[in-house]
Amino acid sequence: MLQGIRKLFGGRSAEHVTTELVPGAVSTGPLVRLEGVTKTFVVDRVETRALSSVDLAVERGEFVAVNGPSGSGKSTLLSIVGLLDTPSAGTYHLNGFDVAGLGAKSRAALRNREVGFIFQSFNLIGDLTVRENVELPLTYQGMSATDRRERVDATLARFELAEIAGRYPSALSGGHQQRVGVARAVVGAPRLLLADEPTGNLSSRQAEAVIEMLQELHRGGATILLVSHDPRWRGVAGRAVELFDGSVVAS
Ligand code: ADP
Ligand code: MG
Repeated sequence: MLQGIRKLFGGRSAEHVTTELVPGAVSTGPLVRLEGVTKTFVVDRVETRALSSVDLAVERGEFVAVNGPSGSGKSTLLSIVGLLDTPSAGTYHLNGFDVAGLGAKSRAALRNREVGFIFQSFNLIGDLTVRENVELPLTYQGMSATDRRERVDATLARFELAEIAGRYPSALSGGHQQRVGVARAVVGAPRLLLADEPTGNLSSRQAEAVIEMLQELHRGGATILLVSHDPRWRGVAGRAVELFDGSVVAS
């Protein structure tokens, strides 16, 4: 798990890549554009088609919710949009750039710079403090220690985490852990925020707080793609996309 999370922020060796690959010149049109995206997993020669010919565009500043029953492909969709996985067929343009040709290092660098993730299980690193968890994406971006300190201080203050900056995740409530998760997701000022069931492990009061945080980020201009069963998100997102058996059935 720990390694998986570290991998999520990996790719520091190619930190120069995003400015080259995603220049201002292509930053028109939707931020996310999937066309005919299909994803097939093969396990022990058994094929599972997790996504079937999905078309999806997310405009800059949009807040889109993806709904659908368990197993309908929601997490697979987020993994592809978040550059954690690649489509079996179809195309994906992020910020106008076709990501298909990227090697693993460039993908990691692009992900690290452009995408923030918020997870149901928080996925904080247990042997790092709150401050260190929030700092991690900046470290992997290759930011200098002075700039990191400034950015982390501002982010901890913004999310009311300064007082608990020295604590470890295991000493925190789920609500606080997710607050750290949101802070970590946005500290690097990513273009795109992805959230997979972010309130799935929270009490109703804690969930409300997370919903408010994302609403606030959206009001500030963030582009958000959210997956959730939680009916409390209804009316928060500007638009809902319905997945069923790997296909978009309503939008
Ligand atoms: P959801 O998030 O909507 O519950 P998922 O995207 O996790 O759905 O899964 C969609 C389908 O793809 C399911 O049938 C699931 O078992 C399968 N699947 C997802 N990830 C993998 C994987 N890494 N290997 C094999 N099958 C997978
Ligand atoms: Mg899922």
